[in-house]
Amino acid sequence: MTPATASRRIRDCVLELSQGDITRMAADAIVNAANSSLMGGGGVDGAIHRAGGPAILDDCRRIIARIGALPTGQAVATTGGRLPARRVIHTVGPVWRGGGAGEPELLAACYRSCLRLAADEGLDTVAFPSISTGAFGYPVAAAAAIALQTVAQCLHANGRPRRVRFVLFDRATHDAYRNALDRLPDPTADPA
Ligand code: ADP
Repeated sequence: MTPATASRRIRDCVLELSQGDITRMAADAIVNAANSSLMGGGGVDGAIHRAGGPAILDDCRRIIARIGALPTGQAVATTGGRLPARRVIHTVGPVWRGGGAGEPELLAACYRSCLRLAADEGLDTVAFPSISTGAFGYPVAAAAAIALQTVAQCLHANGRPRRVRFVLFDRATHDAYRNALDRLPDPTADPA
């Protein structure tokens, strides 16, 4: 596995960053920045379906037949198909509408939902892309701060999953997460 470019230990867990293609990650689960239809799309969604093959879409169809559509902020899991990852956790990030439409809360809900599902399935290593910062237009610096703070709080509260890695596709996104990690508040500190 490619080495992490930066990491932070939280309880017995590791929160780390790397730059690259999430479809190549040999984690227990990788997270997909999907849309509510779960029928695939562009960006990381398209890359995951292409690399993982049709078994992922088969699972997505079964889920959609049951629930209709996946609401923003929630998450479901499918097979990883031919991916090195065993499972894919699909979540729907908020579309950026200027910041006043609940986007920060919905983005945090995505990360919490994925980590809850991972814990429920006993998955120990989880990789995330930068949810919402591509086609959905969420400003990356703001999204990075929410992503890392939310994951750090979950790891501090639950002590699992053991390893969470953000796999950032491009340099600018990676560097925004690196900055946010450097500024991450200590999750053990009392709120002021
Ligand atoms: P959204 O619709 O949630 O904005 P996108 O897939 O358009 O989702 O973009 C989310 C992030 O995923 C962007 O930073 C994009 O560059 C990145 N991305 C695209 N392909 C991959 C990949 N194969 N691995 C990791 N990240 C990827």
